Amino acid sequence: MWSAPGWTVNLGDPPETSVTVRLVSPREYGVCSPRLSGCAVPVGHVCLVMLDRAAFLNGTPRQRTLLLAHEVGHCLDASRLEYTHGDFRDEGRVYSAYHASPVEGFAEAYAHAYLARCGPNAAPLGWGQGPPCVLPDPHGVRPDRLLR
Ligand SMILES: [Zn+2]
Repeated sequence: MWSAPGWTVNLGDPPETSVTVRLVSPREYGVCSPRLSGCAVPVGHVCLVMLDRAAFLNGTPRQRTLLLAHEVGHCLDASRLEYTHGDFRDEGRVYSAYHASPVEGFAEAYAHAYLARCGPNAAPLGWGQGPPCVLPDPHGVRPDRLLR
């Protein structure tokens, strides 16, 4: 897994969140279901993100950015929000039944907040070329301000 292609990016104001991304086969996730397109393993201010290599590389720029920003949302939930999920309950159901859980609702809302602010430009998350963009503050991603 650690030899798979990927990158490390440091996000946000100090204390930064260090996110290491690896593009892998879902069989290599280990701790997450291989049916998922991504998996985040946060440990304080360090986070390992594994993405389904084929789903990520074959996605549109918008799909790629949503997938990556969703997993980064899980990382920031842990590092900046102490895993409170932005006080989401089931509001994430507007995205899908899967996102009705607090943890998935917050991550998907964070991904949409990222897309609204930075567009399909994933360079600020370490992928590809694009202009700089200040990431949305995870504290501002709230269930009463959902973006789709
Ligand atoms: Zn998720």
